[in-house]
This record gives sequence, C-alpha cells and structure tokens, in this order.
Amino acid sequence: MLQCPSCARSQEPRLICSQCGTPLAADLDLFAALQLPRLLEINTGNLETAYHELGRRIHPDRFASARPEIRDASLRATALLTRAYRTLRDPISRGRYWLELHGHKLGENNKQVPPELAELVFEVQEKLSDWRAAHGEDEAGFRDGLLELKTERVRLQGLLDEFYAELLENFAAFDGGGPDSDQLFAELRTNLSKLAYLQTLVRDVDRALEDSAVG
Ligand SMILES: [Zn+2]
Repeated sequence: MLQCPSCARSQEPRLICSQCGTPLAADLDLFAALQLPRLLEINTGNLETAYHELGRRIHPDRFASARPEIRDASLRATALLTRAYRTLRDPISRGRYWLELHGHKLGENNKQVPPELAELVFEVQEKLSDWRAAHGEDEAGFRDGLLELKTERVRLQGLLDEFYAELLENFAAFDGGGPDSDQLFAELRTNLSKLAYLQTLVRDVDRALEDSAVG
C-alpha cells in the first residue's frame, strides 16, 4: 500500500491519488502507469488519450508551488508516464518490454542473423557493395544497380509488413490466453529478432538510395 503525501489516504500503488488527485511516485509497470489493462493489443487512440489526460493531471507546472515532496512526485510520475507511452506505442518496443516484464531475455542468440533471413541479408549486402564499387567506374552498372536496389526495397517492405503482421498475431495469441505461453514467448523472440534484422537492412538500403539522390 502507498500513502498519499497530501491527504494521507492509503491505497494500491498508482499514478494519481484516488482521493485528492496528487501525483504519487509509485513504482508501476508501464501498463499500470497508463492505467491500461496488461494486454499486448493496444488501441492507439486509447493510448493517446490516457497519456494526454494523465499527463495533464500530473503536469509539474500544476505543482510548481507545492511541497518539494509533491513536486518531486509530479516529476517522477511524468517521467514514468512518458516512458510508458514511448515504450508501449511502438509494437516492437512493446514486445521487448513484454519479454522484460515476464523475466524473459531477448537471448544471446539474438546477435546471430535468424537463419531464414541470412541468405536475404547476404544477397542485399552484396548488391549494395557491388553498386558502391560501380560508382564512378561503371556508369551503366551503377544505373542498373540503382534500379535493382529500388526493386529490392519494395520486396523488403513486403517482408517487413509480413513480419509485423506475424508480430500482431503473436500479440493476439497472448491476449487470447494462448495454449502454450513458452511457445508464444519463443515466437515473440523470433519475431522481434527478425524485425530488428530486417529494419537494419532496410536502413542500409534507404541510406544508399538517399546518397544516390543527393549525389
Ligand atoms: Zn491524496
């Protein structure tokens, strides 16, 4: 139980005193901070609303002349709320946080390229380096390489969308109380790792395409 420094009411840890509205420096998980149910499927509209409404109620400006203890609670509650919002609004960081919240690590083998992606990553990296090598040496090769990279970018986007859809399916299975949570956690780790690799690859291709637009 947590006691409100303002009205002294004793209550379950929460962001705002249920009796007087004073911000409380409670140690909450990020779902609880936003007063959202602990579920992976989040309605973005609800998330935005919760963040803005709670943020307004605990805003440090409102407590500028309050006792230091309460000012401090307002700052800490605001920092927690912001962290919760930023972490939960993005499905990938939400998935990572879910693992953390349940005591699962992303895993050591996360540093390895997931097998089903290894070939693709290799192929695209090779195209990138051939293309860079053609620069200033082989104009026709450079132009063809650019076209190939643009086509590749479209294919990668298709895969990204597919992996995102898989991640959201995994979220739905968790929320539906899937039959085997060990399997769901393993799937989640794989999904996150695949997305991380693909995103890095897409960033490399995008950077190369941007450079070619500038140069
Ligand atoms: Zn109170």
